Order: sequence, then structure tokens, then C-alpha cells
Amino acid sequence: MQSLPTILLKPGEADRIIAGHPWIYSGSVLRLTQPAADGDLVQVKDHRQRFLGTGLYNSKSRIAVRVLSPDRIEVDRTFFESRIRAALAVRQRYLSGSPGSFRVVNAESDFLSGLIVDKYEDILVLQISSLGMERSKSLIVEALQTIFSPRAIIERSETGARKFEGLPDANGVLAGNLDGPVQISTSGISFEVDLIGGQKTGFYLDQQVNYRLVAELLSRAQGCADEVVRTPGAQVLDCFCFLGGFGLHAARAGVAGVHMLDQSADAIAAAKQNAERNGLAEKCSFEAVNVFDWLKAHTRVPPHEKVVPQWDMIILDPPSFTRTRSAVPDALRGYKEIHLRALKLLKPGGTLATFCCSHHVDAGLFQDTVLSAAFDTRRILRRVAAYAQSPDHPIIPMIPETEYLKGFAFEVVR
Ligand code: SAH
Repeated sequence: MQSLPTILLKPGEADRIIAGHPWIYSGSVLRLTQPAADGDLVQVKDHRQRFLGTGLYNSKSRIAVRVLSPDRIEVDRTFFESRIRAALAVRQRYLSGSPGSFRVVNAESDFLSGLIVDKYEDILVLQISSLGMERSKSLIVEALQTIFSPRAIIERSETGARKFEGLPDANGVLAGNLDGPVQISTSGISFEVDLIGGQKTGFYLDQQVNYRLVAELLSRAQGCADEVVRTPGAQVLDCFCFLGGFGLHAARAGVAGVHMLDQSADAIAAAKQNAERNGLAEKCSFEAVNVFDWLKAHTRVPPHEKVVPQWDMIILDPPSFTRTRSAVPDALRGYKEIHLRALKLLKPGGTLATFCCSHHVDAGLFQDTVLSAAFDTRRILRRVAAYAQSPDHPIIPMIPETEYLKGFAFEVVR
């Protein structure tokens, strides 16, 4: 251990690390005491040489060190095995209903910056976004095999972040065999998921708990929390539906119809098949369109006429409109526009279930944007639920980047 190269931090930079944030930006580094190769393990000390932790170094990245531990550690197979087991135990404590598919490791949320592991029934999908983790890939695969004995381990390392680490994209089968799409089930609805070519690692696991919560509102709308009680007449619009997560759960809640929109023709084709697989095709309809265009077309009326609201529930779950702080104003215009139009299309008493997955737009700012749209459309909203990312994407408040998905359900009072 004594021989590890040492990164000394500039004065004032130690507190964030002591507080538990794992990123040391290159601008925080005072100097390196001896040469370190990119991907090497280094020890981190403050400018007075006080030990702060051990981490993985990369001179090419803006994040020069990703701290793994406040202790002096070895990064070997045992290290990965115990970190992954600890992460799994968190899921077992906080994910209700023992789902077969969930995120096992969520990078910084589990003190493994640069590593994501998703479990889709008996298949694992790995996503590596840092050079240090890339170097440890075979150790990680071995640890995963020991813990899960999976049928296959797939790699989907295609994040933009890899570019900043000097890494090319990498995908393929790391272990075992995968011979086609995988069937998963979330609260009783089954989905066929493309783990090799689908969005993210195949599914939006971070919304898994919210599918059920939003669908429950449809039952409550009839004055009873029991999910068996149906909502016979309701019409639901699921915008940005992807594989139909929200829409299909709503359809199962017994509504009259669910219309799903996504600009990806592949997503719409898959959502359609998922509706059939679950015996819900009759009440579902689909359109491969740009949601902005669709909403615009459906809220366009001649001067002095009003839009006729037709929907009992509208779900808005767009992609992140901004990955950077500087693009937040543009993103807010986008969020406001879809809310303005959605509010015009909702019947009084109807429900807006809306989500924002941009880390840079926090819940307060997001709600302000919805309220600004409500003001412009002269609607009064009652907030009936607040949502967050599923518990398999744990939030570490000391690492603000771990908190990104927020959502609300609003009832249109009038
Ligand atoms: N609600 C989904 C996840 C949505 S992710 C779920 O729970 O699984 C965002 C989706 O929006 C993606 O499927 C993407 O194809 C789609 N998308 C992105 N921009 C769009 C646009 N302008 N119009 C329609 N769909 C869009």
C-alpha cells in the first residue's frame, strides 16, 4: 500500500471527499507525488498529507480520481464481491415485492463510480463508464458469477461518458449465451426486452415502482384504493411510452382505452407486442410520432374556440431535456410546452402524471414549471402524489448526482 502513488488535493478540496462524494476533479488536484498510469489505484491526501481515501486515477478525465473507499483497500475480486453483495442487500431491504428485474449496482449510489449492473431475471447487463472500472471488468464479471450464477452477462457500455475517459464503446456477450429478447415481469405485467439493442440497458428500471403507483390512481379515481375496482370509462394518454410501462399498467387497471405515443417506431412496435402478450391489445392504441408535434396538432383550434379536453389521465415521461446546467432554460421551455398542451387536453377532474429525469432540474423547479403552465391555461391543480426513482437507484444526498428522477400526480381541480 505504501507504494501507491499519492494525489494531493488543493487546500479546501478535502471536505467534499470526507463528506462522501467520490469525484475529485482535475482542478482540485495539487500534485501527484509519483507517476501514476491511467486506471491505477492511488491514495488521496489533503494538502497537509492527511489520508482521505483510495481511488482510481485517470488523467484523461475531468474526474481525475473516483474514490472507492475512505480506507486503504485492495481492489480485487473480494472487494467487488462484498460491494456488490452490500448493494444487493439494499435492494432486498427496500424493493418491495421481490422483483426479478432490478438495478443491482447504481454507480455512485453504491460507491462504485463508473459501474452499473442491471439484473433482468437470470441475465445481467453491465455498463462501465470509467477507465478504472474498465480495467477491473474481469474481476467484476467473476464476482457477478459467484453471486448470481447468471445465464449470461451482457455488456452495454455505450454511454457518452466513456468518451471523456478515453474509452471506445463496448458491447457484447461477456459470459454465457443470449439467444434473443428476454421476458421480464414487473408487478404482473410481462415485457419483452431487447438487452442488446434497446434503450438504456433495455428497460427503464428506475420507473418500475411508479408504474404501479400511477395505475393505482386510476382505481382511486373511482373512490376506492382497491386495485380490483375498475375505472371503466377512462381514457389515458401515455406520452413517451417506450415499451408501454405506464400505459400497460393503466390498461390493466381497467380503463376504457390507452393511447401510447413514442417517436421510436421500434419502441412502438415492441409496446404493441407487449400489449398483446398481456391480453391488453384491445384497449390499447399506438402512434409513432413526435410528442411535441402530436400535442401541437391536438391543441390547435380556430381563433376564439377552446380545445375540447378528452383525457382522464395524461402521463408525461420525456427523456431528459438537458444533460448540462447551461441548457436548463431551454429544457424548461420544453417541459413547459408539453405541460401547457397536456393541461388543455385534460378533463376537469382528470390526472396529470408527470416526470422529469434531468438531474439539473430539481423537484421545486420542475413543479414551478408545471404551475406556470397551469397559470397560463387557467387551471388549478391539486397535487395528489409525488414520485421518485425506484429504490434500486438509491439516493445518497451527499452525492447530488444520484438524485435525478422526480414526478408528481396532479388532479385538475378546474
Ligand atoms: N415511459 C417510458 C420511458 C420513456 S424514456 C418507460 O417508463 O419505459 C423516453 C422515451 O421518449 C423514449 O422511448 C424515446 O424514444 C421517446 N422520445 C424522445 N423524444 C421524443 C419525442 N420528441 N416525441 C416522442 N417520443 C420521444
